[in-house]
Amino acid sequence: MPSADVVGLYSCGPTVYYFPHLGNMRAYVFADTLRRALRWKQIPVRHVVNITDVGHAVADSDTGEDKLEVAAAKERRSVADIADFYTRAFFTDLAALNVLPADRYPRASEYVQQMIEFATRLQERGVTYQIPSGLYFDTTKSDGYGTLALMDIAGQREAARVEHVEGRRHKSDFALWRTEEPGVRRVMRWDSPWGWGAPGWHLECSVMSMALLGEHFDLHTGGIDHRELHHVNEIAQSEAYLDDGDPWVRYWMHNEFLLLNNAKIAKSAGPVPRLADLIEAGYHPMAYRLFLLGGHYRSQLDFTTAAVDGAQTALRRLLARIEPLRPLPVIEAYEQAREALTAIADRTAAGAGDAEPGDKTALDYLELMDDAISLDLATPRLLAILQETLRDPEITPAGLRIVVAAADALLGLHLNDLDPAALDRRRSAADLDTAEIETIERLIADRTQARKEKNWPRADEIRAELDRLDVQVTDTPTGPTWHLR
Ligand SMILES: [Zn+2]
Repeated sequence: MPSADVVGLYSCGPTVYYFPHLGNMRAYVFADTLRRALRWKQIPVRHVVNITDVGHAVADSDTGEDKLEVAAAKERRSVADIADFYTRAFFTDLAALNVLPADRYPRASEYVQQMIEFATRLQERGVTYQIPSGLYFDTTKSDGYGTLALMDIAGQREAARVEHVEGRRHKSDFALWRTEEPGVRRVMRWDSPWGWGAPGWHLECSVMSMALLGEHFDLHTGGIDHRELHHVNEIAQSEAYLDDGDPWVRYWMHNEFLLLNNAKIAKSAGPVPRLADLIEAGYHPMAYRLFLLGGHYRSQLDFTTAAVDGAQTALRRLLARIEPLRPLPVIEAYEQAREALTAIADRTAAGAGDAEPGDKTALDYLELMDDAISLDLATPRLLAILQETLRDPEITPAGLRIVVAAADALLGLHLNDLDPAALDRRRSAADLDTAEIETIERLIADRTQARKEKNWPRADEIRAELDRLDVQVTDTPTGPTWHLR
């Protein structure tokens, strides 16, 4: 449990039934920016990110199948395998995006007993009712229900997903416990006062955040899609549970959507690109991070090939400019950078009588960076200031190194160690036009024919031609395949 001077931060984590896509990852890069801003201000943080491995029904509804169970059936693997596999995929992406690790990643399935106790207390408080499909929270018993979403209860009912639940009193009421339907045995099931079944999706976040951060904490983050339903319900059940008249969480912060060619990337919308797809296409994960930081977290961002190309080029130029300054000093906090810059001025003052104007320049840029991050995490502004600093002839090399290191403490772009050559984009088949692809496929067909005819000199000749085109051919039992080197 954190002490009073440690900020408690909870971020809604992934439902581990499939790979996280690029839109999902925006939420964690945003929470990471917040983490880095708090570190910058030397405010200790305890960060919790949940892993939803039970309770999240398909279509975010109260009834129906669990996302994990559907995925397990589809992939013919156990639910535990599915959860492990996609949890690891999530951690891989977090690491590739240089996201600072959270203190805890609790799994919902490990807190079911506490969820039952939580729901029991709500039942004792008289804010629930039981129907055949489970135990429901009565949202009319919650003062200010929906305030977070800036909606009154009537609006909330309209916004609630159209799902008919037999016996549910109000459209906005939600399941705390989802009882098994007669004759349907869930794979993940627990006994409870309301019968065998599984917890409702919203319950886990209230229970695990309180268990790990204390009953009240400071910051709760998540994607904007959670603001209308999931977070509204978390607040309603938590405030009814605590019943102390205080707001449950002090500040809520939501990141906007990533748009894919102007279409919203929602969790349920078919296959959308993930980080591995970008890497496969020759992009560096840091180019995606730079693309995200180039927009403010509260603005929608349109993900296009041109935009990520631009980010990759911009990052390569930035690294090429910074490379001669390496190694950069280790800087994490504003005060630390300010002291380092002041020390340069002092040394110079001892020698020359007056402080170098260059150090004053560096301190001014540091001040601007501090203003930018303090102004609701204005990362686009921060990036612009970094560019200005790098162009300024007035700044001393020592001052510049400190300011660049300070900027990267907030940006997390690996400015100290990423090789600009890693940003030289390999071409992928997607970059070729139809004529180029036809040429390659004709050469491969000719090579297959030559080999069939045991015409080895001709086969070698074609292989050399393919090499020249950077084409790597692999012979498989079903015929040759190729990719660009
Ligand atoms: Zn949540």
